Amino acid sequence: MSHTLYDLIGLAAGVAFILALKGLSHPKTARRGNLIGAFGASLATLVVFFHTNEDSSLPLNNLGWILGAIAIGLVIGVPAARKVQMTQMPQLVALFNGVGGGAAALVAIVEYLNLGDKATTAEVIFTVFTVIVGCVSFSGSIITFMKLQELMTTRPVIFPAGRFIIAATLVSVLGVGGWVVNSLGTTPLLILAGLSLLFGILFVLPVGGADVPIVISLLNAFTGLTVAASGYVLDSTLLIIAGTLVGASGTILTRLMAEAMGRSLFGTLFGAFTAKPQDAAAAGEERPVRSGSPDDVAILLNYARRVVIVPGFGLAVAQAQHTVRELADLMISKGIDVAYGIHPVAGRMPGHMNVLLAEANVPYDQLAEMDEVNPTFGQTDVAIVIGANDVVNPAAQTTPGCPIYGMPILEVNHAANIIFLKRSMRPGFAGIENELLYDPKTMLLFGDAKASLTKVVSALKAL
Ligand code: NDP
Repeated sequence: MSHTLYDLIGLAAGVAFILALKGLSHPKTARRGNLIGAFGASLATLVVFFHTNEDSSLPLNNLGWILGAIAIGLVIGVPAARKVQMTQMPQLVALFNGVGGGAAALVAIVEYLNLGDKATTAEVIFTVFTVIVGCVSFSGSIITFMKLQELMTTRPVIFPAGRFIIAATLVSVLGVGGWVVNSLGTTPLLILAGLSLLFGILFVLPVGGADVPIVISLLNAFTGLTVAASGYVLDSTLLIIAGTLVGASGTILTRLMAEAMGRSLFGTLFGAFTAKPQDAAAAGEERPVRSGSPDDVAILLNYARRVVIVPGFGLAVAQAQHTVRELADLMISKGIDVAYGIHPVAGRMPGHMNVLLAEANVPYDQLAEMDEVNPTFGQTDVAIVIGANDVVNPAAQTTPGCPIYGMPILEVNHAANIIFLKRSMRPGFAGIENELLYDPKTMLLFGDAKASLTKVVSALKAL
C-alpha cells in the first residue's frame, strides 16, 4: 500500500472519530456514533497491517508478537466486556483507560531504546512526557478502579505531610525528566517511570466521594495526551489525531464536571488535606427512622399532584429502570405531574441515569437537569428517591469538611414528603451519613428497589 493511500485511510479513520464524538453528544444518535467510532478504530488498526515496509519511518516488524498480543487482548477483553454488569462498567472503563496510558508509556520507552543516540531532543522530550503522563494515568486509574470496585475505601486517603510528599514526588519526577533529556540514559528513564507511577498513586489517594468522577475524567484526558505524544515519537498522524481528540474531550468533560460539582481542579485534587476531620461518633449512633409499606407509599403518591423521581446508583444495581417507568406512566395516567430529577454525578459514570432511563424508553422531556428541577421542589408533594443517597445529602450544604461539601445537590429536602427506597441504613459512595433519612417528613421503604417498586405499582393500581 502506498504511503499516500495509507495517509488517506488514516484521515478517514480520523474523520470517523470526529463523527463518533458528534454522534455521542446526544442519546438519540449515541448508538450510531459508537458504531462509527468502532469502525474508525478497526480501520486504523487494520491499515497498519497493509502498510509495506518500504518507508522505513513506518515499519511493521515483529508481526508474531503483535498478533500474539492482539490474541491475548481479545481472549481477556471480549469475555470481560460481554460479562460485565452495567453497574461495573465505570470500573472497566477506568481499567481500560489506565491500560491505554500504560501501553503508550511502554511503547515510548521501547521506541526510545530503539532510537538510542539517534533520538532528536524533541523526540526525547515527547518520550519523557509520554512516560510521565502515561505512568501517572496507569497507576492513578488502578487506584480509581479499586475505589469504584470498593476494594479499598471510597473516602479520601490522607497521610501526614501528604501535600509535601506529593509536591516532593512531583519535583523529583520533573528533575529526573530533565536528567533523561540531558543524559539520554536507560536507567534514568526507568527511574522516571517508577517515580511517575508513585506520583499517580499519591495524587489519586486523597480524592474521594464526590470528586472521584472528576479525577476519572482527568485521567482519561491524560491518557489522550499520552497517546498524542507517543504519536509524535512514532511518527503516526493517526495516533496524534485520536490522542488529541481524547485529550480535548476529556479536558472539556473534566471542566464541565468540576463546574457541575462546584469544584476547582486544585480543590478536587488537594481539598482533602485542608478538610476538617469528620465526627465519627454521630455515624455510629442508632437513631429512630420512619419506615413504611408499599401501601403507605401508594396512598401518598395517589393523592399527590406533583412527584419528582430521583434515581441514583441503586436504581442501576436493582435494574429497576423498566419498573420505575411503569410507576411513572401509572401516575401520569392518574393525572399526576411527574418528572425525573437528574444529578450530573448520580450513579457511577457521567450520564449513567440518562443511559439507564433511555434503556427503558423514558421520554427525554420527562428528565429535568438539577438546575431546572431544584426550584420546583418547593411545589412538589412527593420526592421519591430511588437508590440515590449522596446526590440528595444536605451535608453537601451544611457540613464543611465532609467529602461532598460544596457539591450541588438535588434539594429534595424542600419537598413536602420524601420517600427513600433503599435496602439498609448503609451510606452511599462517599461513605457519609445522610441526615435526611432521619427527617420527620421522610418515609423509608426498605428492600431492593425493583421488588419495592413492583409492590408499589400493584398497590397503586389497586387504589
Ligand atoms: P450513592 O452511592 O450515594 O447511593 C446509592 C444508594 O443506593 C445507597 O444508599 C444504597 O443503599 C442504595 N442501593 C444500592 N443498591 C440498591 C438496590 N438494589 N435497591 C435499592 N437501593 C439500593 O449513589 P448516588 O447516585 O446518590 O451518588 C453517586 C455517588 O457516586 C456520588 O458520591 C458520586 O460522586 C460518586 N461517583 C459518581 C461517578 C459518576 O461519574 N457519576 C463516578 C464515581 C463516583 P443500600 O445499600 O442501603 O441499599
